[in-house]
Amino acid sequence: MDHVSRRQTRRQMLKAAIGGAAGVVLGAPVLRLAGAQAQAVSDAAGTLKLNDDLFVVRLPGEANVVAQTSADGVVLVDGGSAAASDALIKAVGSLPGGGRVHTLFNTHWHPEQTGSNERLAKAGAAIIAQENTRLWLATDVIWPWNGQRFKRLPKAAQPNKSFYTTGKLDSGVRYGYIPDAAHTDGDLYVYFPKQNVLVVGDAVSGQGWPVVDWVTGGWIGGIVGGLQRLQALANAETRIVPARGPMLGLADLKSQYEMYGTIYDRLTQLLNRGRGPNEAVAAKPTKEFDAQMGNPDEFVRRAFESLWAYLSPDA
Ligand SMILES: [Zn+2]
Repeated sequence: MDHVSRRQTRRQMLKAAIGGAAGVVLGAPVLRLAGAQAQAVSDAAGTLKLNDDLFVVRLPGEANVVAQTSADGVVLVDGGSAAASDALIKAVGSLPGGGRVHTLFNTHWHPEQTGSNERLAKAGAAIIAQENTRLWLATDVIWPWNGQRFKRLPKAAQPNKSFYTTGKLDSGVRYGYIPDAAHTDGDLYVYFPKQNVLVVGDAVSGQGWPVVDWVTGGWIGGIVGGLQRLQALANAETRIVPARGPMLGLADLKSQYEMYGTIYDRLTQLLNRGRGPNEAVAAKPTKEFDAQMGNPDEFVRRAFESLWAYLSPDA
């Protein structure tokens, strides 16, 4: 299936799925961005131990990487950028029980996550990704908002084990598609049941406003839908690891769901009144959150454009 028809199918699916879910959000949500669990990890680089066999590896300027060690080798969730790949593989090798990586998950196609694909695939690792992520990695992508170009990965670096809905490793680790398209239309989560750790990639932002990559299917309604979906996979003790920022808990997903639901409602109202991205920015649809979240202008612009991309197929 090509990207266009795939995306339209997803849109129809999401229109049914989201049907008013965001509309029930009322009132001013209280943000809980610095909860007790967040204290366990700072913005500084370094390795965070989640369990005897589970770690968050954080290199300077890089997205979070989760590594599970075992006698059979290492499972990685995301592989850092290509520039940091050497340092990452070295850091993973020096973890307690660390060794050869036998499985790598790509939570989505962005270069911050897929920079170790080629070397690990050549070394025999399984590279697991949702099928849409595999397709994006096999095509060139241009972001119109800043002109950034992304070259397709060579065949050897593309995911060699793609899936559509859910899957499970022999060790019991479960993974699944986040079809709401919060960040891209190929987002996946990985759940480690023994440690009760849920890795969510960029489908949830742990730090600042998210990038809404609508060129590859992400949209503001998907952020809301994804936050709702992921709450069902977590309980009060679940530690949630996003690609950026500190660890989160279930309460963070709830407060983010309320915040993005509020923003989604405001942006759709602006859209329905025929406003454009500049007017959306001027309307300050995030105003009560900005003190905590930072300058929202880029986010609001992308989020508004994502409504156009979602509601006006291939306009
Ligand atoms: Zn990303």
